[in-house]
Amino acid sequence: MFCESLKSRLGLLRHVNLFLGLTSLIFVHLKSMMICNYFLIALTVLLMSTGTLKADDTGIKSREIKNEKLLSRIKQPPSYVRNTNYDKKWFNVLRTGIDKTREYLGNYGPLHVYIIGQESKELEDKEVGEAIIKIFCHCRHAQTQHRIADCLKGTGASLIKRARNNSTEAYLSYVDFIDPPLAELIFINPHGFDMPYLYTRGIHEYTHVFQRGFPSTPTWMTEGSAEFLAFYLGAKNEWINFEQSMKESMRMLQSVENDEVSLVDFEDIEKIERERPELKKYYRHIAYDAGAWAVAFLIHHSENRSVKSFTKIFYQTIGRAGWKEAVKRYAKFDNIAEFYVSFEKFLEESNEKKMQMLNKLKP
Ligand SMILES: [Zn+2]
Repeated sequence: MFCESLKSRLGLLRHVNLFLGLTSLIFVHLKSMMICNYFLIALTVLLMSTGTLKADDTGIKSREIKNEKLLSRIKQPPSYVRNTNYDKKWFNVLRTGIDKTREYLGNYGPLHVYIIGQESKELEDKEVGEAIIKIFCHCRHAQTQHRIADCLKGTGASLIKRARNNSTEAYLSYVDFIDPPLAELIFINPHGFDMPYLYTRGIHEYTHVFQRGFPSTPTWMTEGSAEFLAFYLGAKNEWINFEQSMKESMRMLQSVENDEVSLVDFEDIEKIERERPELKKYYRHIAYDAGAWAVAFLIHHSENRSVKSFTKIFYQTIGRAGWKEAVKRYAKFDNIAEFYVSFEKFLEESNEKKMQMLNKLKP
């Protein structure tokens, strides 16, 4: 709650006028006494003087049932922080993708979305980057203020540095050292993603936010669900073609030698990095591409074959009983090993048969 309401006010403030703005600032200041207050007042002055940064507002529960901090379904919509001298087109595309996914999956948060970009010299002025770094660090360290200084020089500064160095990135950063936890979606130089795949990028990343409302799932399921829903919702919104995208994933998956690696190897990417780094090169092929097909396979095995039920019933069962139990109950497998074996068998079917399975999925 803390930074959101203030930041949306800041956006308003720049749009209305100084007088009205100060009124709303005082209002918000009283309302959310606790955290970013002093800092945000200083920041407001900075924003007004540089005129280059704006916060926008859009429209609205375990690593395997351990003590995971989960996001909640809330009313507060995501807040957006971006350098406004960077083409608004990229922000609009991402926000549209995220909004469509929130409509479908529900609004989970709190969520801060950072869109930082440089196509020519947008970040050349030091103040532009510093304003973003300040919001970023003060919001994530609102309860751990002793770490703000490190953040400003480290994690925060690195965002701008990477944007200046032409890096193109999109990821969820999950801040679980505060209460409630906070999700940050970071997009750096989103113009570097091909269109229309920037839309599906927004869907993919927001799906990860939704997933943080539930106990954790294996890497392939986390990435596979995000990828599957990116294709599915991307097609529903007429940005991409679902079958074509799934076909392309199958092509990627089939480019991997049969015996080298399979879905079961990609339950835990951190473990792979520690114990089997030679498999890391298959991250894309197995976690994302095989993952998307494994999710389609699960949905096909469920009672009503409905994608919507997957996002409701399946995830609710994960919430109550963890992912293994959810796979068993939702897709009627006796155990996880049986699921993996059936999926491997499915992969041996002809491509035509695989595509036929997709046709049987229901909304
Ligand atoms: Zn992902």
